[in-house]
Amino acid sequence: MRRTRKAKIIATLGPATSTPEAIEKLFRAGADVFRLNFSHGSHADHKARLDAIRDLERAVHRPIAILADMQGPKLRVGDFRDGKVRIEAGASFRLDMDQTLGDHLRAPLLHPEVFAAMTKGSELLIDDGKIRLRVERHGPDFADTRVLVGGEVSNHKGVNVPNVMLPISPLTEKDLADLEFAVEMGADWIALSFVQRPSDVAEARRLISGHVGSRVRILSKLEKPSAIDQLHDIIELSDAVMVARGDLGVECPPETVPILQKRIIRACRQAGKPVVVATQMLDSMVHSPSPTRAEASDVATAVYDGADAVMLSAETATGEFPVDAVTMMNRIVAQVEQDEHYLVIAEASRMEPENTTRDAISAAARQVAHTLGSAAIVTFTSSGSTTLRAARERPEQPILSVTSDVEVARQMALVWGAHSVLAKDVRSFTEMVQKAAHFAETEGFAAIGDSIVITAGVPFGFSGSTNILRVAEIEDPNAHHHGPHRPHHSD
Ligand code: PGA
Ligand code: MN
Repeated sequence: MRRTRKAKIIATLGPATSTPEAIEKLFRAGADVFRLNFSHGSHADHKARLDAIRDLERAVHRPIAILADMQGPKLRVGDFRDGKVRIEAGASFRLDMDQTLGDHLRAPLLHPEVFAAMTKGSELLIDDGKIRLRVERHGPDFADTRVLVGGEVSNHKGVNVPNVMLPISPLTEKDLADLEFAVEMGADWIALSFVQRPSDVAEARRLISGHVGSRVRILSKLEKPSAIDQLHDIIELSDAVMVARGDLGVECPPETVPILQKRIIRACRQAGKPVVVATQMLDSMVHSPSPTRAEASDVATAVYDGADAVMLSAETATGEFPVDAVTMMNRIVAQVEQDEHYLVIAEASRMEPENTTRDAISAAARQVAHTLGSAAIVTFTSSGSTTLRAARERPEQPILSVTSDVEVARQMALVWGAHSVLAKDVRSFTEMVQKAAHFAETEGFAAIGDSIVITAGVPFGFSGSTNILRVAEIEDPNAHHHGPHRPHHSD
């Protein structure tokens, strides 16, 4: 199955999309990566979804990435007797350490550190800031608040306490168990929530490296002001980054979010690390079959900015129109990528190659493909790095990422422009050219007569520097009589 879209789509799975049939529909509508949100659902739920995705992979012969998103030290209210309540502005509302189910007067908030750190006048924000409460009185195990902005609060909604420093670890007890489980079951990417400092990422990496053979990659979710302060160091230590606008827009003033989004995308593109734009992208589609104009524009902006992926959360996890949401996102992304001004922006915002052989080759591959009007850039990669550096160039052509490592093939599903092909390592130059031409054709990216640009690192099959570039032509097997698979007039 060939997709011409460059920016990728991440769909979050949830109660609305748990069956193999639902997951397959999302994939066919355009989802490249599935997110398992460990803030909700049991391990058994996540494992069943993972198994369904792996079955789907076999059925469609496409590597699919699974992003296991750790809840992190996210504060949440407990559950309600009726699943939800409506609280009105002006009313008083109590939060406490009592595990009894909540009602319209009180709700459990089982986080003693919040009661310890708050002061009179502190604001508590519920459900991405939709509900605002102001603390009027508090003790070690309760807070009496005044409702500033009311609305509906349902089970397990998130709570933010902006401007209050909470002494909480980046990986909670729950995260440690979830991380262990996600790595064991074979997730491809781990998302770390509420990263505050570079050492949070380093700590997660240490934990993962304890799992022999695991090459799961780390995606840091940027949703705290303190993370923005150390943006470059966090990107350096991470394999990818998410602009987690839900919590970011609660922790920082909403008007700063678009600026931070652009700044984070630029910094990630500079570093050559995949960057995801997330949350509320098509939010109205949770309840409506079509998005608002502003939402369509928001998705488009992320694509124009050069994000690697755009993400759907509630739209696909719990929404009424999960497949429509992916379909719509697919259409918006495809439409932007066909705009000729998109190419102008891509060219103008291209990052200078670093002073390395692999970047020199990657930049040259982009230039050669452009000059020749080639059909594809084919990268041979064992670690994924050749593909990542090719993607950093944001070429016009699709990047056919050929690897013998199924884990790498899956992980690259998150990367801008990359189309993974799983194949045995090549052992010679001739075989490299043959296979590149073969895959470009069979995967539907090139036809007879087209040229392709190939990059790889020799010696083959080792993770190392990209150091060769080769142009080849897709030959008509019937038109030549000088032995099979002879490289076409270019050696
Ligand atoms: P969440 O992360 O959906 O897990 O909160 C994304 C965000 O905060 O935007
Ligand atoms: Mn968040």
